[in-house]
Amino acid sequence: MSINHIILFIPAKHGPLLSNIIRMDLQLKGKTALVTGSTQGIGFAIAQQLLQEGATVIINGRTTARIDEAITRLKKEVPGAKVSGVPADFSKAAEVEALLKAVPDVDILINNAGIFEPKAFVDIPDEEWFRFFEINVMSGIRLSRHYFPKMLAKNWGRIIFIASESAIMIPKEMIHYGFTKTAQLSVSRGLAELTVGTGVTVNSVLPGPTRSEGVDEFIKQLGASKGMNPEEAEADFFQTDRPSSLLQRFATVQEIANLVTYTASPLAAATNGAALRADGGLVRSII
Ligand code: NAD
Repeated sequence: MSINHIILFIPAKHGPLLSNIIRMDLQLKGKTALVTGSTQGIGFAIAQQLLQEGATVIINGRTTARIDEAITRLKKEVPGAKVSGVPADFSKAAEVEALLKAVPDVDILINNAGIFEPKAFVDIPDEEWFRFFEINVMSGIRLSRHYFPKMLAKNWGRIIFIASESAIMIPKEMIHYGFTKTAQLSVSRGLAELTVGTGVTVNSVLPGPTRSEGVDEFIKQLGASKGMNPEEAEADFFQTDRPSSLLQRFATVQEIANLVTYTASPLAAATNGAALRADGGLVRSII
């Protein structure tokens, strides 16, 4: 059950059946959120849940066509959704500048856009290291540099970096990806240190393997490199590459969005500077 769909059953004698269901209010009405990389996958699910909670959401992807398609889907799934979109490719600093001009202020920033691809360490050239760093790390840095001071001035704000369990359990099949995810934890904790005594929080959420469109492609590529079809590759992935997963399946994108939406809410005011795991228990650590 998702955190924002917790229902309380009150004895029927206290009123008619329908009014007996009370939805937990995450108090997100009136808040504006920017979710990067939200035309599909985890970002789309986060945008959808924030809209369901009554927030105004700006989605982002690389092309206007993909954004329009995602907005149509979101409006269908959340009637009355206050959603718009701005295209920007995070590998292009000028496009990030244009995004910041189009969206000068937000209450909630979700740094979700990210890329991943299995590749042997010796086959990763310099350009790929820089490309992963620019898209996965500089995206969040460039946006936070703009929005964070404004949040401090308003004395309220939320920044959430969508990192990964790969930040801690560096994957041998894509060390360059793990390196960018560890860097996100560093930036996130560092920014949180600058929020002392304010209503602003900065946290990271660490999803484990999650069934997104991007991961479907990843499993295909991993399978191809091992001579396996996607079903074989998926089973092998949990047995060989992620054996410590307690969940032993991909999380759903909604299961990640549940934690992100709560963390973005005013209810999570006491959670700051944290690396929050939604990793299916994959990381063998008590804290
Ligand atoms: P996905 O590939 O399904 O979606 C990625 C989104 O980012 C898309 O909307 C895409 O348009 C956007 N994007 C990609 N490159 C971009 C660029 N250069 N500029 C702007 N937007 C760009 O991915 P996902 O699985 O939903 O992953 C989302 C985030 O979650 C990533 O940061 C990823 O590292 C992280 N994550 C995913 C998993 C997983 O198993 N799916 C696990 C841990 C962390």
